[in-house]
Amino acid sequence: MQYRDFGQLDFRPSALGFGAMRLPVLSDDEGKPDFKRIDYPLATKMLHHAVDSGVNYVDTAWMYHEDTSEVWLGEALKGGYRERVKVASKMPVWNVKKPDDFDRILGIQLERLQDDHIDFYLLHGLNAEYWQTVLEQGQLESAERALADGRIRHLGFSFHGLYEDFETIVAATDLWEFVQIQFNYMDEDYQAGRKGLELAAGKGLGVIVMEPVRGGAIARNVPPRVQAVWDEAPIKRSPAEWALQWVWNVPEVSFLLSGMSTMQHVEEDLLFADRSRPGLLTSDELALVARVRDLYRELSPIPCTSCRYCMPCPQGVAIPDVFELYNDAHMFDNLPRQQMAYRVFFSENERADQCTACGECVEKCPQGIAIPEWMEKAQAFLTSC
Ligand code: SF4
Ligand code: SF4
Repeated sequence: MQYRDFGQLDFRPSALGFGAMRLPVLSDDEGKPDFKRIDYPLATKMLHHAVDSGVNYVDTAWMYHEDTSEVWLGEALKGGYRERVKVASKMPVWNVKKPDDFDRILGIQLERLQDDHIDFYLLHGLNAEYWQTVLEQGQLESAERALADGRIRHLGFSFHGLYEDFETIVAATDLWEFVQIQFNYMDEDYQAGRKGLELAAGKGLGVIVMEPVRGGAIARNVPPRVQAVWDEAPIKRSPAEWALQWVWNVPEVSFLLSGMSTMQHVEEDLLFADRSRPGLLTSDELALVARVRDLYRELSPIPCTSCRYCMPCPQGVAIPDVFELYNDAHMFDNLPRQQMAYRVFFSENERADQCTACGECVEKCPQGIAIPEWMEKAQAFLTSC
């Protein structure tokens, strides 16, 4: 296993972190996966194999597997495994309706984990709206108290907003020691993006990467035109390995989290992590990855480049972000995932149905996109089931 620096912390994380968001699950009576029913024996075997192979960081959260992932982890780490890993979990900041809720929720998390502390604690999924909640409900002060009395050992945040908000949040307090951002070859300029990664690393913060394969989208169901480009590479790698090596190639990345669902995923990711190192990919290989990215973008129905010239919308609609989800659902054939993101990460006023067709954005769009018409389609598509 490769180990990497983690900001200014005295801890060398494994290049691969174990994400507990997509664990194997049992089926319901109709044979459909029941995400609340984690397959304990298999998930635990996978975790133990990863730890026995050198993985030393496990990431969970209050809401993963409909609030059951922390409970599983508390059980799975028995038998000496707890001492061999750092445990990360997250405060669902949107559930903190009054300041006392922070301590109450953290207390439940410790009970679920059967532990007296969480090594790495994150404020979950921050964006402009949730950051306001953090400030209004005194969550930073609560976190500072939890740090002081040892219930949590290090504080960071995960992020799903705009770069500008990332900058604001990073600068807001010295309590942060690490951040967790979405970063992959399709999302280099999305959300915090490379700019955010460099900003955080430049401030000495550890940078954890989530969604390195975009929830599997750039690893599975690869269109033949994309596969043809991968086939040109002199060194053969699977699409999943290309995606992961692209992330590990970046020296500012501390490590990445992979949400593994099968033992085969674990085996493969361990192998890829062993082969990884910063600066591994040649300039020709990076150019190949860029060609794949361009091809995926050609498969997008809306020619939005995320330039954001159309913003702000007077109604608050998050125009490029709505288009991103719509395009992703078409490019990667993963509508349920994009619908979930639309429900969870978009506030009501950011959604496409707030568009009044005023036309203000259309004049500013260099791509000449008929934005109000696409908004109607996007709303229908992203809420279709
Ligand atoms: S047309 Fe719709 S999306 Fe565009 S600025 Fe007006 S309200 Fe916002
Ligand atoms: S101006 Fe046009 S291309 Fe740019 S982000 Fe807005 S919709 Fe997309």
